[in-house]
Amino acid sequence: MQHTLKNPIEYLKGVGPKRAEMLQKELGIFTFGDLLFQYPTRYIDKTQFHRIVDLHPDIGSVQIKGVLRRLTVAGTGRKRRLVGKLRDDSGALDLVWFTGVQWLEKKLEVGKEYVVYGRVNAFKNILSIPHPEMEAVNAQNQQRRGVFDPVYPSTEKLNAKGLDSKARRRMMKSLFEKMQPGDVPENLPAYFLEKLKLPQRYEALLRVHFPRNQEELKAARNRLKFEELFFLQLHLLQLKNKRQKAIKGFTFEQVGAYFHQFYEDKLPFELTGAQKRVLKEIRRDLGRGVQMNRLLQGDVGSGKTIVGLMSMLIAIDNGFQACLMAPTEILAQQHYQSISDYVEGLDLQVAFLSGSVKGRARRELLEDLAEGRIHILIGTHALIEEPVVFQNLGLAITDEQHRFGVKQRAKLWKKSSPYPPHVLVMTATPIPRTLAMTLYGDLDVSVIDELPPGRKEIKTIHQTEHHRLKVMGFMKQEIAKGRQVYVVYPLIEESEKLDLKNLQEGYEALSREFPPPEYQISIVHGRMKPDDKDFEMQRFLRNETQIMVATTVIEVGVNVPNATMMVIENTERFGLSQLHQLRGRVGRGGDQSYCILMSSFKLSNESKERIQTMVRTNNGFDISEADLKLRGPGNLQGTEQSGMLQFRIADLAKDGRILQTARELAMRVLEDDPSLERPHHHPIRWYYDKYSKKRKGWSYIS
Ligand code: ADP
Ligand code: MG
Repeated sequence: MQHTLKNPIEYLKGVGPKRAEMLQKELGIFTFGDLLFQYPTRYIDKTQFHRIVDLHPDIGSVQIKGVLRRLTVAGTGRKRRLVGKLRDDSGALDLVWFTGVQWLEKKLEVGKEYVVYGRVNAFKNILSIPHPEMEAVNAQNQQRRGVFDPVYPSTEKLNAKGLDSKARRRMMKSLFEKMQPGDVPENLPAYFLEKLKLPQRYEALLRVHFPRNQEELKAARNRLKFEELFFLQLHLLQLKNKRQKAIKGFTFEQVGAYFHQFYEDKLPFELTGAQKRVLKEIRRDLGRGVQMNRLLQGDVGSGKTIVGLMSMLIAIDNGFQACLMAPTEILAQQHYQSISDYVEGLDLQVAFLSGSVKGRARRELLEDLAEGRIHILIGTHALIEEPVVFQNLGLAITDEQHRFGVKQRAKLWKKSSPYPPHVLVMTATPIPRTLAMTLYGDLDVSVIDELPPGRKEIKTIHQTEHHRLKVMGFMKQEIAKGRQVYVVYPLIEESEKLDLKNLQEGYEALSREFPPPEYQISIVHGRMKPDDKDFEMQRFLRNETQIMVATTVIEVGVNVPNATMMVIENTERFGLSQLHQLRGRVGRGGDQSYCILMSSFKLSNESKERIQTMVRTNNGFDISEADLKLRGPGNLQGTEQSGMLQFRIADLAKDGRILQTARELAMRVLEDDPSLERPHHHPIRWYYDKYSKKRKGWSYIS
């Protein structure tokens, strides 16, 4: 940043010490530069008139010109409102006021032409403008050039002190009077700007604050979005390159007998195209002499386990051991079961370790492991504890949602020498591509985006309380066919007592409807002792109970193929990705499965949208895209504490294409000029040096 932008904000014309203090406290604006780089959140565009026919729900605020055709008071009490009908030569639109009804009714004249400004609202696909500004058309406003004003984020305190958007605009004006284009040097090479048709940096900054028309604004915003995403991608790719240079790994040269024998004799089905592709990616990683750090994303049921297993066989073929770690005891046991079944007859030793393996069994296991008599170790986090010593661990797989913390990673890495083991992280929480590129931009990511053939879609149905009897009847039918049913209740900390009460009441109501001895019901929630929970789970697993009443503890992993129905209570209280994870507990066998989403009758628009998304699709990637649009990137599961997703202007929900371009260009630049030495890359290098210093200590770990 050049000198001018480092000036304390206090010295800007019209600011002074008092206002400077407010700006610092409320908005973190300390310098001229801070002011410059806080962009408007929206704009008031009165430079053009929209035609009514062109309006749509996402258009935001618009100015229209039309004749007021009708004005009536509708409704009573709190719903009393004034409704006007505005017509232009393309169509008609409702204007609605809930306050000042009497006064407005007198002031507005039917038959007169008005300039109307306001935010378009959509209710059941009917557009209207609530509380629009109204100005009768006259000689003056016909002449006047319309305003195009930026609106800045503000706070009540700032507004009270007169530091509103208007004041901000005055400050921006003073700032641009002080500034020279040289104060914000270009940080992108000319060939980028030409190719992408983007304005210069100074021009973009000027026009994002002072647009003259929509095209200019759009170009300015695109330029600033691109710049923001490009430097982040450049940084992530640099981290990745550095790590690949620095961290050597075992080289698995061959794919040998175990792999081939398994592939040819044991594999009970044809791999999907996606599974084959991912296996190839992993094989390539394992043969390069660099430690693998790969994330494997795949929807529930997409067949990640088999890919994990076959990767382990490659390790074993090269004389190494492998381990697989799961977040809970039950999940670990299920993996142990299915993997033991898969490799039966292959002359491989598979062992299980968790906190519950104790005494002599544990001692023997640890001895066998250290002496290389165990090929595959499966278990919980107990695997990375101190006393667990491998003879030669070559590959570690983790099956869980979250990436390792620093400490855990260090523990895992110490399990082998001279290099750390290769690491494969499997996650069943699909995240949208744009997010993956950002959150995991420094990792290698594989995606299984195809389900094994013959899977039946889980039929998802939305029901309200009125239909509870019908739902119970449906449960009875499924149980009569020998199937099992989950009934899931929300439980969150803030309302835990009430939630547990609901769960208990639901359990009792079900017990009356499904009485013993004909029916048996399990109940599981997070407040139970682990042993009790486990006992109940096992009963359901063994089909001794037909109904499992539970909170979201069943969300991850458990596999009960005989469960074909899930009833989710208070669906509106669950997030989309959570609902999808829950639903993934059914549909695991060959039978048609069902998911019933129970909710109250009255729902917010967002809840409706979530439920409709669940009803519409079974695809986890579609669902995560919808979630991203609904809630924004910072609120998706697993991204909560990520400062990485805070952008000044880019929006991962909307700017996927810009991001893709930014990443591709960053890759290309680093490929042909890794240290940014070429003259035409100097603008990038100058800026990136500063950028990476700021980002230090902030990099991500796997
Ligand atoms: P997830 O990705 O959720 O961990 P799993 O690996 O548990 O999925 O696989 C789900 C089920 O699909 C398992 O029963 C597995 O045997 C089966 N499966 C995996 N791959 C295929 C395939 N290519 N064809 C048919 N069935 C498959
Ligand atoms: Mg799995």
